[in-house]
Amino acid sequence: TAGESLEQAENSLRELAALAETAGAKVLDGVLQRRPFPDPATYFGKGKAHELADLVNSLGADTVIADSELGPSQRRALEDIVKVKVVDRTTVILDIFSQHAKSREGKAQVELAQLEYLLPRLRGWGESMSRQAGGQVGAAGAGMGSRGPGETQIELDRRKIRTRMARLRKQIAGFAPARAAKRANRKRGAVPSVAIAGYTNAGKSSLLNRLTGTQELVQNQLFATLDTAVRHAETADGRSFTYADTVGFVRNLPHQLVEAFRSTFEEVGESDVILHVVDASHPDPEAQLQTVRDVISEVDAQAIPEVVAFNKADLIDDSRRMLLHGLVPDAVFVSARTGEGIEKLKARIDAALPLPDREITAVIP
Ligand code: GDP
Repeated sequence: TAGESLEQAENSLRELAALAETAGAKVLDGVLQRRPFPDPATYFGKGKAHELADLVNSLGADTVIADSELGPSQRRALEDIVKVKVVDRTTVILDIFSQHAKSREGKAQVELAQLEYLLPRLRGWGESMSRQAGGQVGAAGAGMGSRGPGETQIELDRRKIRTRMARLRKQIAGFAPARAAKRANRKRGAVPSVAIAGYTNAGKSSLLNRLTGTQELVQNQLFATLDTAVRHAETADGRSFTYADTVGFVRNLPHQLVEAFRSTFEEVGESDVILHVVDASHPDPEAQLQTVRDVISEVDAQAIPEVVAFNKADLIDDSRRMLLHGLVPDAVFVSARTGEGIEKLKARIDAALPLPDREITAVIP
């Protein structure tokens, strides 16, 4: 992207890789190119695009993901050269949102964002869909970009899409009161839950694996409203609780995705503890910390106890450790990679969870 330093571009590419993996793709390689501005025809420029085609071919990749928004004709021109499906960052993010959205409001918000994204690109679709049907494009990265509005909807003309968008907006406006009522009604005595919040690439899912020590996903009906996979865990004294990964924050979230993000993140408000994971090795952890906290407040979840974990502690030196400690004195330094701090973090989470006897006092007035 224009004006970005090499370091920023590398960070952005790392985040894109984490996003793609969250969306279910396996990332094979990353390519950075320095040029003053994107090529209007093929984004990368013809020479680089052909190099990319060779790379795609030798890796056996079935999808190329570009790190910024592609125009419809750029995408088509690139697909013609690399001979596999080409998607962009926004497509990947929308895909993740649509996997995370569980509430009716969240789903409506995500569909609205998908249609908004689709509308100006409609002209390109017919062609690329028919090419896909022709079988040139393989089983693309876990169906990236094909979730959400189905093919039949995509074939509707613009006017119909606009009508659908208007209906979704009306529906969404109607959800607001129900949401307030739902929060007022927060279940008491149910199994407590910990929501894991933080930026994409902070190590939320790695940490979740460390904390639960299992890959087992639990579909618990009690938590049907909470997004994504819910996992069971136990406190040291044998009380059950659950962990739920939440939709990750994304740097420079495209403006049209902000509402969709918020509505999927909002479900954090139903948890008992927020485990806020920060990448301690990130160039600006303070800004990330603040952004996550701001959004937690915006969704009215600021009263929920927060446990901050500075992850990737294996990558930082003592001076940075001091700095971060000054920022959040009661945070726990952990490493999902080495296992450092995991037991301490578990103890902190145990302590933050509501006690059973407190729940009982809450029901007996
Ligand atoms: P998520 O997007 O927040 O779920 O992050 P992931 O769990 O997918 O991790 C993002 C990247 O950071 C992966 O490449 C992980 O291997 C890496 N990572 C996660 N935790 C640590 C850690 O404690 N130390 C180091 N060095 N890398 C980590």
